[in-house]
Amino acid sequence: MQMRVGWVLYTLLAIVSLPSCADPPAADRPHAAHVRSEPRRVPELARLESRPLRPLLPETVASTAGLPPPVSSTHMAAAGKRRIDLKLLLITATGDEPSYLAARSAMDRIGVSYTALIAATTPLTPALLSNNLNTCYYRGVVIAVGGLGFKDPQTQLWGSAFTAEEWAALADYERACSARELVWYGAPSADYGLALASDFASNEVVTAQVTSAGKGVFPYVAADAAIQIHDSFGYKSTVTDQTATTALVQSDDGFVLAAQHLGLDGREALIVTVDSNPYLLHGLVWEYGLISWVSHGVFLGKKRAYLSPQIDDVFISDDRWNTTSHRNNVELDGQDEFRITGPDIDNMVSWQTAFRAKLPAGSQYITALAFNGVGTDVAEYPDESLLTQALAAGGELTWLNHTWDHENFDPLAQDAVHDEVTRNCDLATQHNLNGFACAELVSPDMSGLTSAAAMLGLVDAGARYVVSDTSITAEVAATRGTTAGDNPSFNVGRINTIDDRVYQVPRHPTSIFYDVATRNDEVDEYNTIYRGYWGRDLSYDEIIDTDATFGLHYLLTGDIDPVMWHQTNLYSELIDGTSHSLFSDWVESAATRYSRLVTFPIRTLAQRDIAAAMQARAAFDACGAVATYVELGVARRIELRATGTCVVPMTGVSSRAGKVDLYGGVPTTELAITAGATKVIRL
Ligand SMILES: [Zn+2]
Repeated sequence: MQMRVGWVLYTLLAIVSLPSCADPPAADRPHAAHVRSEPRRVPELARLESRPLRPLLPETVASTAGLPPPVSSTHMAAAGKRRIDLKLLLITATGDEPSYLAARSAMDRIGVSYTALIAATTPLTPALLSNNLNTCYYRGVVIAVGGLGFKDPQTQLWGSAFTAEEWAALADYERACSARELVWYGAPSADYGLALASDFASNEVVTAQVTSAGKGVFPYVAADAAIQIHDSFGYKSTVTDQTATTALVQSDDGFVLAAQHLGLDGREALIVTVDSNPYLLHGLVWEYGLISWVSHGVFLGKKRAYLSPQIDDVFISDDRWNTTSHRNNVELDGQDEFRITGPDIDNMVSWQTAFRAKLPAGSQYITALAFNGVGTDVAEYPDESLLTQALAAGGELTWLNHTWDHENFDPLAQDAVHDEVTRNCDLATQHNLNGFACAELVSPDMSGLTSAAAMLGLVDAGARYVVSDTSITAEVAATRGTTAGDNPSFNVGRINTIDDRVYQVPRHPTSIFYDVATRNDEVDEYNTIYRGYWGRDLSYDEIIDTDATFGLHYLLTGDIDPVMWHQTNLYSELIDGTSHSLFSDWVESAATRYSRLVTFPIRTLAQRDIAAAMQARAAFDACGAVATYVELGVARRIELRATGTCVVPMTGVSSRAGKVDLYGGVPTTELAITAGATKVIRL
């Protein structure tokens, strides 16, 4: 028993590692956790500084919207006889613009098919846009920064990265191919039927609302959503041309922040006059609507909101942060352990019921508990209420294998690892635990992934999907002599390097530490670690708000990774007459802020389903899928081809050619395709 607890303590301490942790343990804390010297904040804001748009010289053409209809230089077939690739052309001036990175990030995460063109170095020629006969290479055009302004390194003058001829070629293409033009960040001008009213700097906060006309482009934005714009330059304007221009997003003082414009020649433009970057909330809220609009509602890829928390160490105890000595040191302060009891589970289930009712319609949320079977042995843990109430929760919870007694796998022999996994599988069968699958595993401290013996043992026991830690980036892994546990690309996991039968599902840690049960514990530990960074102590509300912003970010970006918690965090504390836990406060903070902004449902996936989605995403990313919208008079169809075998998600299409997933009222058809084949989808 003493031996096992030693292992539990040792291995749990190491779990607290957070992103970019590379600090060696402090000398006076022999088992000190690897914690970062800085708290987690939404990163990159400083590096991706928002910038105002410098005015372009008057003679420089700043957009295509204001160009008069020229004599067409292309000879494209008329509408009804064209083939249009379902692909976007993303144009920027130099490639380092935050708004370009925002647009690219959105397309990459959703899986949209696009080509990026850096205008300062690559000329735009008509041959890049069409075959000048019947095939259009792009469904829509995204201009990352209005006017494509940049400082010419030759002349040292500020001007457009496009020549007048390039702008004309683009306008000509948009007209001939019915391609919409989206300006991700631009200055208001008469070209769009807008007059500049004022601008705002990145240190100001502006609240934005979608107008009633804007609901057509952003139908998923919650009614009365107040979208906070911060860390961004932007321009407020008024509509000067009511017949051609429609305001889509307005500031709370009534000025235009995004508008749609219909040109005299029939070309459609949409301009957003607020800067963005891949991490800023306002851009994450409206990216889906923008991409859908410029794609005429049909595009490759999909976006979903996921929330899949996993609570480790259920049934056993974790050591506990000491708020008197401000440390977690068993050697110096004695044994200080914590284990939740039945009422904590009851309160969590009650909270979950109320929480679900507050989520967007169509959401499917459930909390997963990763258990250690030894904790049900009354000889070791006399309290029986925890097991009783956990079983009573029935289908309200799902279960994961966290091994029998939490021994680190790395030094273990194959048989021992096999035994650790199998004993828990047997216990789950005995208790008929909801959702349990022996194929899913959370190994102690995410250990064993680099041990041949451990891999053989766990595979032999039936495990196939094992979590890894996203804070173990390649950089961190190199310093620890282990393998990376983060996502190699968005929503993709890793095939285990020792045994390719095992798929690693990257999982996010939080700053709600494994050894804290009460608000007081969390505040004391957080401030002990991060006081130096902030220069002061943060309150509990500030800590939750700061750290749960990651959860909001996961929801708004469509991140599918599960999130890691520990049983200590489920402790139910009565605050002003209401039961709270550190876990419920964090999750509720993230999801409530999400639900106030967006009505797309939140989904929880089982670990095996996350692994399957990650494998599907990796195959889709690699399969070279190309879709073409074909006009056959009044009829329409889409032809899909690929160079590899994969399942292609196509949003905006409901077809019997594949499996349809209706999400927030928008269909996505999942189309299985094999290398070299063409699949025809009739619309
Ligand atoms: Zn654990």
